[in-house]
Amino acid sequence: MIETISKNIFLYASQSRALNTAAKKWGLRFGASQVVAGETIESAMKAAKSLNEKGLVCTVDHLGEFVSSREEASEATEYCIRTLDSIAESGAQCNLSLKLTQLGLDIDVDFCLHNMRRILDTAKKHQNFVRIDMEDYAHCQMTLDMLRELRKEYENVGTVIQAYLHRSLQDVKDLKGVPLRLVKGAYKESPEVAYQDKKQVDENYMRIIREHLLSGSYTAIATHDHNIIAKVKEFVEEHGISRDQFEFQMLYGIRKEMQVQLAEEGYTMRVYIPFGNDWFGYFMRRLAERPQNVAFAIKGLFSK
Ligand code: FAD
Repeated sequence: MIETISKNIFLYASQSRALNTAAKKWGLRFGASQVVAGETIESAMKAAKSLNEKGLVCTVDHLGEFVSSREEASEATEYCIRTLDSIAESGAQCNLSLKLTQLGLDIDVDFCLHNMRRILDTAKKHQNFVRIDMEDYAHCQMTLDMLRELRKEYENVGTVIQAYLHRSLQDVKDLKGVPLRLVKGAYKESPEVAYQDKKQVDENYMRIIREHLLSGSYTAIATHDHNIIAKVKEFVEEHGISRDQFEFQMLYGIRKEMQVQLAEEGYTMRVYIPFGNDWFGYFMRRLAERPQNVAFAIKGLFSK
Protein backbone atom coordinates (compact mmCIF):
# COMPACT_ATOMS: atom_id res chain seq x y z
CA MET A 1 0.00 0.00 0.00
CA ILE A 2 2.70 2.51 1.11
CA GLU A 3 4.83 1.28 -1.78
CA THR A 4 2.02 2.03 -4.27
CA ILE A 5 1.50 5.51 -2.84
CA SER A 6 5.20 6.38 -2.95
CA LYS A 7 5.49 4.94 -6.46
CA ASN A 8 2.63 7.18 -7.62
CA ILE A 9 4.14 10.25 -5.93
CA PHE A 10 7.49 9.70 -7.67
CA LEU A 11 5.84 9.06 -11.04
CA TYR A 12 3.73 12.19 -10.56
CA ALA A 13 6.84 14.24 -9.68
CA SER A 14 8.66 12.83 -12.72
CA GLN A 15 5.94 14.33 -14.92
CA SER A 16 5.94 17.76 -13.30
CA ARG A 17 7.23 20.35 -15.75
CA ALA A 18 7.81 22.87 -12.93
CA LEU A 19 9.96 20.49 -10.87
CA ASN A 20 11.90 19.29 -13.91
CA THR A 21 12.63 22.88 -14.94
CA ALA A 22 13.63 23.95 -11.43
CA ALA A 23 15.93 20.95 -10.98
CA LYS A 24 18.02 21.98 -14.02
CA LYS A 25 19.35 24.87 -11.94
CA TRP A 26 20.08 22.81 -8.83
CA GLY A 27 22.87 20.59 -10.22
CA LEU A 28 22.73 16.87 -9.43
CA ARG A 29 21.15 16.48 -5.99
CA PHE A 30 19.47 14.03 -3.62
CA GLY A 31 21.92 11.27 -4.54
CA ALA A 32 21.07 11.49 -8.25
CA SER A 33 24.79 11.28 -9.03
CA GLN A 34 24.62 7.58 -8.10
CA VAL A 35 22.46 6.93 -11.17
CA VAL A 36 23.31 9.91 -13.44
CA ALA A 37 26.92 10.22 -14.68
CA GLY A 38 27.30 13.99 -14.37
CA GLU A 39 26.03 16.88 -16.45
CA THR A 40 28.52 17.00 -19.36
CA ILE A 41 29.55 14.82 -22.30
CA GLU A 42 33.03 14.65 -20.74
CA SER A 43 31.67 13.15 -17.53
CA ALA A 44 29.64 10.59 -19.52
CA MET A 45 32.71 9.61 -21.57
CA LYS A 46 34.76 9.25 -18.41
CA ALA A 47 32.12 6.92 -16.95
CA ALA A 48 31.95 4.92 -20.20
CA LYS A 49 35.71 4.48 -20.41
CA SER A 50 35.90 3.39 -16.80
CA LEU A 51 33.13 0.79 -17.37
CA ASN A 52 34.85 -0.37 -20.59
CA GLU A 53 37.94 -1.09 -18.51
CA LYS A 54 35.82 -3.50 -16.44
CA GLY A 55 34.71 -5.35 -19.58
CA LEU A 56 31.33 -3.60 -19.91
CA VAL A 57 30.05 -1.83 -23.03
CA CYS A 58 27.82 1.25 -22.77
CA THR A 59 25.10 3.40 -24.26
CA VAL A 60 24.81 7.08 -23.32
CA ASP A 61 21.65 9.13 -23.10
CA HIS A 62 21.64 12.92 -22.90
CA LEU A 63 18.67 13.45 -20.60
CA GLY A 64 15.95 15.80 -21.77
CA GLU A 65 12.20 16.04 -21.19
CA PHE A 66 9.35 18.38 -22.11
CA VAL A 67 10.84 19.75 -25.31
CA SER A 68 8.22 22.07 -26.77
CA SER A 69 10.03 24.35 -29.23
CA ARG A 70 11.92 23.79 -32.48
CA GLU A 71 14.94 25.56 -30.97
CA GLU A 72 15.12 23.11 -28.06
CA ALA A 73 14.70 20.13 -30.40
CA SER A 74 17.43 21.42 -32.75
CA GLU A 75 19.71 21.96 -29.76
CA ALA A 76 19.06 18.39 -28.58
CA THR A 77 19.83 17.13 -32.11
CA GLU A 78 23.15 19.00 -32.15
CA TYR A 79 23.92 17.56 -28.74
CA CYS A 80 23.29 13.99 -29.98
CA ILE A 81 25.60 14.64 -32.94
CA ARG A 82 28.29 16.06 -30.66
CA THR A 83 27.91 13.05 -28.36
CA LEU A 84 28.43 10.62 -31.27
CA ASP A 85 31.53 12.59 -32.30
CA SER A 86 32.84 12.49 -28.72
CA ILE A 87 32.28 8.73 -28.49
CA ALA A 88 34.29 8.28 -31.71
CA GLU A 89 37.07 10.61 -30.51
CA SER A 90 37.33 8.93 -27.13
CA GLY A 91 37.38 5.42 -28.59
CA ALA A 92 34.84 4.29 -25.98
CA GLN A 93 32.80 1.16 -26.70
CA CYS A 94 29.54 2.95 -26.52
CA ASN A 95 26.45 3.73 -28.60
CA LEU A 96 23.70 6.34 -28.23
CA SER A 97 20.19 6.16 -26.79
CA LEU A 98 17.70 8.98 -27.34
CA LYS A 99 14.05 9.94 -27.03
CA LEU A 100 12.04 11.18 -30.02
CA THR A 101 10.14 13.77 -27.98
CA GLN A 102 13.51 15.46 -27.36
CA LEU A 103 13.93 15.77 -31.10
CA GLY A 104 10.54 17.35 -31.75
CA LEU A 105 8.13 14.40 -32.13
CA ASP A 106 5.33 16.39 -30.48
CA ILE A 107 6.06 19.48 -32.57
CA ASP A 108 6.24 18.17 -36.14
CA VAL A 109 6.82 14.56 -37.19
CA ASP A 110 8.70 15.50 -40.39
CA PHE A 111 10.99 17.85 -38.46
CA CYS A 112 11.72 15.03 -35.98
CA LEU A 113 12.41 12.65 -38.89
CA HIS A 114 14.82 15.17 -40.38
CA ASN A 115 16.62 15.46 -37.01
CA MET A 116 16.84 11.68 -36.72
CA ARG A 117 18.32 11.40 -40.23
CA ARG A 118 21.07 13.89 -39.28
CA ILE A 119 21.87 11.88 -36.14
CA LEU A 120 21.84 8.54 -38.00
CA ASP A 121 24.09 9.92 -40.76
CA THR A 122 26.62 10.87 -38.08
CA ALA A 123 26.28 7.48 -36.39
CA LYS A 124 26.75 5.74 -39.76
CA LYS A 125 29.89 7.79 -40.42
CA HIS A 126 31.29 6.54 -37.11
CA GLN A 127 29.89 3.00 -37.61
CA ASN A 128 27.81 3.40 -34.52
CA PHE A 129 24.27 2.47 -33.51
CA VAL A 130 21.37 4.54 -32.18
CA ARG A 131 18.62 3.20 -29.96
CA ILE A 132 15.28 5.01 -29.79
CA ASP A 133 14.03 4.67 -26.20
CA MET A 134 10.33 3.96 -25.82
CA GLU A 135 8.34 6.62 -23.97
CA ASP A 136 4.75 6.55 -22.71
CA TYR A 137 1.90 4.81 -24.54
CA ALA A 138 0.77 8.04 -26.20
CA HIS A 139 4.02 8.02 -28.20
CA CYS A 140 4.30 4.28 -28.86
CA GLN A 141 2.66 4.05 -32.31
CA MET A 142 4.35 7.27 -33.49
CA THR A 143 7.74 5.89 -32.39
CA LEU A 144 7.20 2.59 -34.21
CA ASP A 145 6.02 4.42 -37.36
CA MET A 146 9.15 6.57 -37.32
CA LEU A 147 11.37 3.54 -36.73
CA ARG A 148 9.83 1.78 -39.77
CA GLU A 149 10.44 4.86 -41.89
CA LEU A 150 14.06 5.13 -40.74
CA ARG A 151 14.76 1.40 -41.16
CA LYS A 152 14.07 1.82 -44.90
CA GLU A 153 17.27 3.90 -45.07
CA TYR A 154 19.35 2.88 -42.03
CA GLU A 155 20.36 -0.41 -40.44
CA ASN A 156 22.03 1.24 -37.45
CA VAL A 157 18.82 2.03 -35.59
CA GLY A 158 16.57 0.06 -33.27
CA THR A 159 14.01 0.70 -30.56
CA VAL A 160 12.53 -0.62 -27.33
CA ILE A 161 9.45 -2.73 -26.63
CA GLN A 162 7.77 -2.69 -23.21
CA ALA A 163 6.45 -5.98 -21.82
CA TYR A 164 3.67 -4.30 -19.81
CA LEU A 165 1.79 -3.30 -22.98
CA HIS A 166 -0.86 -5.71 -24.27
CA ARG A 167 0.22 -5.00 -27.84
CA SER A 168 3.89 -5.92 -27.38
CA LEU A 169 3.93 -9.56 -28.52
CA GLN A 170 2.42 -8.53 -31.86
CA ASP A 171 4.87 -5.61 -32.14
CA VAL A 172 7.82 -7.94 -31.55
CA LYS A 173 6.51 -10.32 -34.22
CA ASP A 174 6.13 -7.41 -36.65
CA LEU A 175 9.67 -6.22 -35.87
CA LYS A 176 11.42 -9.51 -36.67
CA GLY A 177 15.00 -8.74 -37.72
CA VAL A 178 15.10 -5.32 -36.04
CA PRO A 179 17.49 -4.99 -33.07
CA LEU A 180 15.23 -4.52 -30.07
CA ARG A 181 15.80 -3.69 -26.43
CA LEU A 182 13.14 -5.48 -24.40
CA VAL A 183 12.12 -3.98 -21.05
CA LYS A 184 9.29 -4.34 -18.53
CA GLY A 185 8.17 -0.69 -18.97
CA ALA A 186 8.72 2.41 -16.82
CA TYR A 187 5.65 4.64 -17.21
CA LYS A 188 2.26 4.67 -15.53
CA GLU A 189 -0.21 3.24 -18.03
CA SER A 190 -3.91 2.41 -17.83
CA PRO A 191 -5.33 -1.12 -17.49
CA GLU A 192 -6.88 -0.68 -20.95
CA VAL A 193 -3.45 -0.83 -22.57
CA ALA A 194 -1.08 -2.33 -19.99
CA TYR A 195 -0.85 -5.23 -17.55
CA GLN A 196 -0.90 -3.90 -13.99
CA ASP A 197 0.06 -7.10 -12.25
CA LYS A 198 3.81 -7.80 -11.89
CA LYS A 199 3.33 -11.53 -12.54
CA GLN A 200 1.57 -10.84 -15.82
CA VAL A 201 4.24 -8.32 -16.86
CA ASP A 202 7.00 -10.84 -16.07
CA GLU A 203 5.20 -13.58 -18.03
CA ASN A 204 4.76 -11.32 -21.03
CA TYR A 205 8.38 -10.22 -20.71
CA MET A 206 9.60 -13.82 -21.08
CA ARG A 207 7.12 -14.35 -23.94
CA ILE A 208 8.52 -11.44 -25.98
CA ILE A 209 12.14 -12.32 -25.14
CA ARG A 210 11.59 -15.89 -26.38
CA GLU A 211 9.80 -14.65 -29.51
CA HIS A 212 12.57 -12.26 -30.55
CA LEU A 213 15.42 -14.65 -29.76
CA LEU A 214 13.81 -17.56 -31.60
CA SER A 215 13.21 -15.38 -34.67
CA GLY A 216 17.02 -15.00 -34.88
CA SER A 217 16.87 -11.26 -34.17
CA TYR A 218 19.43 -9.38 -32.06
CA THR A 219 17.92 -8.93 -28.60
CA ALA A 220 18.92 -6.70 -25.71
CA ILE A 221 17.41 -7.89 -22.44
CA ALA A 222 17.37 -4.81 -20.22
CA THR A 223 16.50 -5.72 -16.65
CA HIS A 224 17.91 -5.89 -13.11
CA ASP A 225 15.71 -8.87 -12.36
CA HIS A 226 17.94 -11.85 -11.53
CA ASN A 227 15.03 -14.29 -12.03
CA ILE A 228 14.50 -13.10 -15.61
CA ILE A 229 18.26 -13.15 -16.25
CA ALA A 230 18.49 -16.74 -14.95
CA LYS A 231 15.59 -17.80 -17.19
CA VAL A 232 17.18 -16.17 -20.23
CA LYS A 233 20.50 -17.90 -19.56
CA GLU A 234 18.69 -21.25 -19.36
CA PHE A 235 16.62 -20.54 -22.49
CA VAL A 236 19.58 -19.57 -24.70
CA GLU A 237 21.50 -22.64 -23.51
CA GLU A 238 18.57 -24.95 -24.24
CA HIS A 239 18.03 -23.53 -27.73
CA GLY A 240 21.69 -23.16 -28.69
CA ILE A 241 21.33 -19.41 -29.17
CA SER A 242 24.74 -17.82 -29.70
CA ARG A 243 25.99 -15.17 -27.28
CA ASP A 244 26.50 -12.93 -30.33
CA GLN A 245 22.74 -12.72 -30.76
CA PHE A 246 21.88 -11.06 -27.49
CA GLU A 247 23.13 -8.83 -24.71
CA PHE A 248 22.08 -7.90 -21.21
CA GLN A 249 21.62 -4.26 -20.29
CA MET A 250 21.32 -2.48 -16.94
CA LEU A 251 21.17 1.11 -15.80
CA TYR A 252 24.21 3.03 -14.56
CA GLY A 253 24.70 2.62 -10.81
CA ILE A 254 22.20 -0.23 -10.38
CA ARG A 255 23.34 -3.76 -9.44
CA LYS A 256 26.93 -2.88 -10.29
CA GLU A 257 28.36 -6.18 -9.01
CA MET A 258 25.95 -8.17 -11.13
CA GLN A 259 26.90 -6.11 -14.19
CA VAL A 260 30.56 -7.05 -13.77
CA GLN A 261 29.73 -10.65 -12.93
CA LEU A 262 27.72 -11.12 -16.15
CA ALA A 263 30.57 -9.66 -18.19
CA GLU A 264 33.02 -11.99 -16.43
CA GLU A 265 30.77 -14.92 -17.32
CA GLY A 266 31.28 -13.96 -20.97
CA TYR A 267 27.95 -12.24 -21.71
CA THR A 268 27.81 -8.87 -23.42
CA MET A 269 26.71 -6.45 -20.70
CA ARG A 270 25.78 -2.92 -21.73
CA VAL A 271 25.35 -0.15 -19.17
CA TYR A 272 22.91 2.67 -19.94
CA ILE A 273 24.57 5.92 -18.85
CA PRO A 274 22.28 8.93 -18.50
CA PHE A 275 23.86 12.37 -18.23
CA GLY A 276 22.90 16.04 -18.45
CA ASN A 277 21.24 18.71 -16.35
CA ASP A 278 17.69 17.48 -17.07
CA TRP A 279 18.06 14.61 -14.59
CA PHE A 280 14.99 15.04 -12.36
CA GLY A 281 12.34 13.02 -14.26
CA TYR A 282 14.75 10.14 -14.86
CA PHE A 283 15.77 10.08 -11.19
CA MET A 284 12.13 10.14 -10.00
CA ARG A 285 11.29 7.15 -12.26
CA ARG A 286 14.18 5.18 -10.72
CA LEU A 287 12.87 5.99 -7.21
CA ALA A 288 9.37 4.92 -8.26
CA GLU A 289 10.72 1.54 -9.36
CA ARG A 290 12.51 0.89 -6.12
CA PRO A 291 11.39 2.87 -3.08
CA GLN A 292 14.35 1.36 -1.14
CA ASN A 293 16.46 3.81 -3.15
CA VAL A 294 14.76 6.64 -1.29
CA ALA A 295 17.32 6.03 1.47
CA PHE A 296 20.14 7.22 -0.76
CA ALA A 297 18.04 10.14 -1.96
CA ILE A 298 17.51 11.26 1.63
CA LYS A 299 21.25 10.92 2.34
CA GLY A 300 21.84 12.97 -0.80
CA LEU A 301 19.62 15.76 0.53
CA PHE A 302 22.36 16.51 3.02
CA SER A 303 25.41 15.87 0.88
CA LYS A 304 24.33 17.25 -2.54
P1 FAD B 1 11.86 -4.90 -11.53
O1 FAD B 1 10.61 -5.68 -11.67
O2 FAD B 1 11.82 -3.45 -11.23
O3 FAD B 1 12.77 -5.57 -10.47
C1 FAD B 1 12.84 -6.97 -10.39
C2 FAD B 1 13.79 -7.40 -9.31
O4 FAD B 1 15.11 -6.97 -9.63
C3 FAD B 1 13.52 -6.75 -7.96
O5 FAD B 1 12.49 -7.42 -7.28
C4 FAD B 1 14.88 -6.89 -7.29
O6 FAD B 1 15.05 -8.19 -6.83
C5 FAD B 1 15.81 -6.65 -8.44
N1 FAD B 1 16.22 -5.23 -8.47
C6 FAD B 1 15.69 -4.26 -9.24
N2 FAD B 1 16.33 -3.10 -9.01
C7 FAD B 1 17.28 -3.35 -8.10
C8 FAD B 1 18.26 -2.56 -7.44
N3 FAD B 1 18.37 -1.25 -7.66
N4 FAD B 1 19.06 -3.16 -6.55
C9 FAD B 1 18.93 -4.46 -6.29
N5 FAD B 1 18.01 -5.26 -6.86
C10 FAD B 1 17.21 -4.71 -7.75
N6 FAD B 1 11.70 1.63 -19.79
C11 FAD B 1 10.94 2.20 -20.75
O7 FAD B 1 9.73 2.34 -20.58
N7 FAD B 1 11.51 2.63 -21.93
C12 FAD B 1 12.83 2.46 -22.18
O8 FAD B 1 13.30 2.85 -23.25
C13 FAD B 1 13.65 1.85 -21.19
N8 FAD B 1 14.96 1.67 -21.37
C14 FAD B 1 15.68 0.98 -20.43
C15 FAD B 1 17.04 0.69 -20.65
C16 FAD B 1 17.74 -0.09 -19.76
C17 FAD B 1 19.18 -0.40 -20.03
C18 FAD B 1 17.10 -0.60 -18.59
C19 FAD B 1 17.82 -1.49 -17.61
C20 FAD B 1 15.80 -0.28 -18.34
C21 FAD B 1 15.08 0.52 -19.23
N9 FAD B 1 13.76 0.85 -18.99
C22 FAD B 1 13.01 1.45 -19.98
C23 FAD B 1 13.17 0.67 -17.63
C24 FAD B 1 12.41 -0.64 -17.51
O9 FAD B 1 11.22 -0.57 -18.27
C25 FAD B 1 12.05 -0.92 -16.05
O10 FAD B 1 11.24 0.10 -15.58
C26 FAD B 1 13.25 -1.03 -15.14
O11 FAD B 1 14.30 -1.72 -15.75
C27 FAD B 1 12.86 -1.77 -13.85
O12 FAD B 1 12.45 -3.05 -14.13
P2 FAD B 1 13.38 -4.34 -13.97
O13 FAD B 1 13.26 -5.14 -15.23
O14 FAD B 1 14.76 -3.96 -13.64
O15 FAD B 1 12.71 -5.22 -12.87
